[in-house]
Amino acid sequence: MNKKANAYSVGIVCVGSELLFHTLNTNIHIATRLLEMRGFEVNFNVVVCDKSEEIKKAINFCLENSEIVVVSGGLGPTFDDVTRESVAELTGRNLVFSEEIWREIQERFKERRIVNVPELNKKQAMIIEGGVILSNKSGTAPGIRLEYMGRIIFLLPGPPREFEEMLTNYVLPDIEKNYGIAQNTVCNGFGIAGEPEAVVDEKTKNLRERIISLGGQWTILALPYLIELWLKLPKTKQFLFAEVESSLREIFEDSFLGTNGISIQEALMIMLKERKLVCAFAESCTGGLAGHLITEIPGSSECFNGSFVVYSNRLKKKILKVPKTVLRKFGAVSEEVAIAMAKGARKYGKADISLSITGIAGPSGATEEKPIGLVWMAVAISNHFFETRKFYFSGSRSAIKLRAALAGIDFLRRVIMRNLS
Ligand code: ATP
Repeated sequence: MNKKANAYSVGIVCVGSELLFHTLNTNIHIATRLLEMRGFEVNFNVVVCDKSEEIKKAINFCLENSEIVVVSGGLGPTFDDVTRESVAELTGRNLVFSEEIWREIQERFKERRIVNVPELNKKQAMIIEGGVILSNKSGTAPGIRLEYMGRIIFLLPGPPREFEEMLTNYVLPDIEKNYGIAQNTVCNGFGIAGEPEAVVDEKTKNLRERIISLGGQWTILALPYLIELWLKLPKTKQFLFAEVESSLREIFEDSFLGTNGISIQEALMIMLKERKLVCAFAESCTGGLAGHLITEIPGSSECFNGSFVVYSNRLKKKILKVPKTVLRKFGAVSEEVAIAMAKGARKYGKADISLSITGIAGPSGATEEKPIGLVWMAVAISNHFFETRKFYFSGSRSAIKLRAALAGIDFLRRVIMRNLS
């Protein structure tokens, strides 16, 4: 390790052949967001297959270039989980069997009512000599913290929920304690919903130039139905975040979601909780996706009663009492049906406010007046008060579904903001 690493930079190695084929690498997003918010710089993310030789190369590369190395995945019990063995070899340490970890693994199986713990799981009780065990509350694979040639290596399990929990519970407090004081930058993420990336870029040009002229960094990220602006500032200039926030509020009005990397779903939840409101959804073309996105947020049960997935006309009539005549006259993708669905969701979902989504996600089902991507939405605040909106989305079937679900959640947030102070 003769090359000097950048101070307090973090290299992330994501292990898993599936990440090179079909699985979206969400752990890197989780890690980068959490680390950058605390002023650490993620300078490398290496995705590597499940082969020991390649894993060693990837970790070695990050050890040479980063102060802290976080490795995700490959700690499971199967033949393709070889991260532990690879790091032991790389660092020239032995693997030792820990009775304590083995007991913990057996306990975890007992909680799941499994009596015979597979022998294969014994592999997970092997700990790298000199390493500190990081207990895993949600899975069987414990993490390991290792110091090696002036660097800290964290081995964390791959499943995203376990990875995030362990990063939050062990890695962040640990590195903040060891390096945090010396960090001289701070980071914040600002969310803007439903605006095109180029429009956001154009409207923030002056603000961006001012921040950069004061020594800050400015990144624009386009996500489905959401633009994020990530700003890094020298610690001495962090008061500028407040100025940026109020400028963005002024420029984007209802479209401005908030700070700290807030998501569209979180912004809605905050609004509902502040007003003590409960909502329900009626979903056709999104097939329950809006409900899924809301229930990803912990604590959603306080303000979300559920989502009626009424894909067919039969269920729209049977479950939500959408009148047969309305369906026949206007068709399932229409303002009138969206209103009737929202009304039904509010009534039968026992909610204060409801959202309905009905559209054509494609690839078939389009007509001249109703093209692929047309989605009608309605929000019902009372039996007689509705707001409706027509959207046109583009992209594949799944892209249209995702955009429609997020736009629906955002539409509900905007209606609440305008009408229910
Ligand atoms: P396990 O005990 O579950 O095997 P592990 O540490 O060995 O834990 P992996 O086998 O690498 O973890 O991955 C477990 C699951 O988590 C897989 O479904 C995998 O696709 C998913 N996963 C792993 N890494 C990532 C990642 N970077 N982003 C998203 N999903 C991931």
